[in-house]
Amino acid sequence: MVYYLFKDRIDRKVQIGKIICLARSYKKHAQEMKSEITEDPIFFLKPTSAVIFDGGSIIVPKMSNCLHHEVELGVVIGKKGKNVSQKEALNYVLGYLVALDITARDIQSEAKKKGFPWDIAKGFDTFAPISHVVLKEKVANPNNLDISLKVNKKIKQNSNTSNMIYSVERIIEFISQIMTLEEGDLILTGTPEGVGEIVNGDILEAQLDKICSLKVNVK
Ligand code: MG
Repeated sequence: MVYYLFKDRIDRKVQIGKIICLARSYKKHAQEMKSEITEDPIFFLKPTSAVIFDGGSIIVPKMSNCLHHEVELGVVIGKKGKNVSQKEALNYVLGYLVALDITARDIQSEAKKKGFPWDIAKGFDTFAPISHVVLKEKVANPNNLDISLKVNKKIKQNSNTSNMIYSVERIIEFISQIMTLEEGDLILTGTPEGVGEIVNGDILEAQLDKICSLKVNVK
């Protein structure tokens, strides 16, 4: 079992549930991947065994020769919800974090060609680095947060969640029509443009506005 870290509430223990990850949720990222934008969000699941925390190491798996970084806003669910409306959606949120959706791009490209699922490309151990959780009371508007990633101190991704095609409310509404959201579930809302390769020895520093950050390395 894996539990979240809370900076302000070290007494708080919430187990991480399912991890739901959106694809193609920023227009410019969809363009750089030559992917079409869809009316409804597209998502896949990552296992909790992929989670690592600040200070951890992304391990390059033997099966891949090309890992990519994807910096993303994470939404942590605070209570059980099914068929949640957009109006009510933020009542189901516990807090936010910054995450990396690490992707074995070579495996994913091959899977895309063959029409296979992405589970292998996205599901290796250490492929879900996450920061501590910032409680939602400290976040005025999740749809207007600067999000960035530096690799070896150079800016690689730099955007704002206002550039997302789907709002956090719309994402929660859509997912909860399919699967019940439960306390501890984590939604990774997709990455802006600027994804790129990471290699052994790289240092990745993700930043979500002024509210949280994450630093991991690649081994
Ligand atoms: Mg992603």
